[in-house]
Amino acid sequence: MSSKQITVTSPLLPSLDDFIPMLRDIWDRKWLTNNGHYHKELEKALAGYLGVNYISLFTNGTLPLITALQALRISGEVITTPYSFVATTHSIWWNGLKPVFVDIEEETGNIDPEKIEAAITPRTTAIMPVHVYGTPCNTKRIQEIADVYGLKVIYDAAHAFGVKVNGESVLNAGDMSTLSFHATKVYNTVEGGALICHDEATKKRIDYLKNFGFAGETTVVAPGINSKMDEIRSAYGLLNLKQVDSAIANRKATAEHYRTALKDVPGVRMLKDIEGVQHNYAYFPIFIDEKAYGMSRDDLYMKLQEHDIFGRRYFYPLISTFSAYKGLESANPKNLPIAHKLAEQVLCLPMFAGLDEESTNRVIDVVRNKR
Ligand SMILES: *Cc1c(COP(=O)(O)O)cnc(C)c1O
Repeated sequence: MSSKQITVTSPLLPSLDDFIPMLRDIWDRKWLTNNGHYHKELEKALAGYLGVNYISLFTNGTLPLITALQALRISGEVITTPYSFVATTHSIWWNGLKPVFVDIEEETGNIDPEKIEAAITPRTTAIMPVHVYGTPCNTKRIQEIADVYGLKVIYDAAHAFGVKVNGESVLNAGDMSTLSFHATKVYNTVEGGALICHDEATKKRIDYLKNFGFAGETTVVAPGINSKMDEIRSAYGLLNLKQVDSAIANRKATAEHYRTALKDVPGVRMLKDIEGVQHNYAYFPIFIDEKAYGMSRDDLYMKLQEHDIFGRRYFYPLISTFSAYKGLESANPKNLPIAHKLAEQVLCLPMFAGLDEESTNRVIDVVRNKR
């Protein structure tokens, strides 16, 4: 059974032939970081591509989460989801705030807006939802709740690059949204990220915060951090932006192939496209109902590995089960039944631009035949 390994993801790489002349230009300019030429170009290009007005580049997707909480001066408790990558909750902890976990919707894996109000206390100041797998949260309902209780909303949109709802970027919802440009994401700058806000004064403040709080050569306006994107990765990012549309189209074709081939398999649930939503096919999760499928999720996960196919259980284990957080009252599994259910059922199948049909068929064969 020695066959080509199929990984869950593979990075979108720009052409080296196109990258080398840009590197020469950077060498000639001798300006490597601190809001240089390519940094400015990439911010402009991303704002245009994504359909947002104010975007600030960061060195990864975690620091914009931490910085958003700082920029909005969030205090006390932040309502969030346990069904995400750990960075979401870590960013709350790093601000000395208390994360409060709320259960999720079975259909999407996103925070359940109808369960948010019960978690609000006099100390709650913000909600940090995640557009899990790139599926937009119910942003309208979340905003209604935020408005009634006077809460800020910061979306972890690490999965939602390019996602639109009725033609409008999902990144325009809430007070701020963050992106990750990590190598494994739909769009990457090797490592990188961004923070999206909705007015110029806030962008200015964010730009101070990601540069140690400097507002001028001798003025420091806040205890900032260092998260400045460099010129080399900005240039790489400009090149990758040119091919991201075709990468998403390629992912969509793979998703359609999986959906057609697996739709009649009992016990396998897949996500559906939502009307009016421009999806990015960031992940291809399947949810295994062990009884109906006749095999557990973990046995399928191991079976795929026997065939050199490496799926990932995003998001298992839940953030609320890690030692840093499991002592919180809201981390009690009784409070999070749907999140626990999905964490036990989920398996993300290989999904990336350039995954060929032969490989997809190999994955499908194992899922269908369980051997
Ligand atoms: C990837 C990811 C992050 C963190 O991004 P990095 O660029 O790896 O720091 C945060 N939240 C979610 C949901 C992610 O998937």
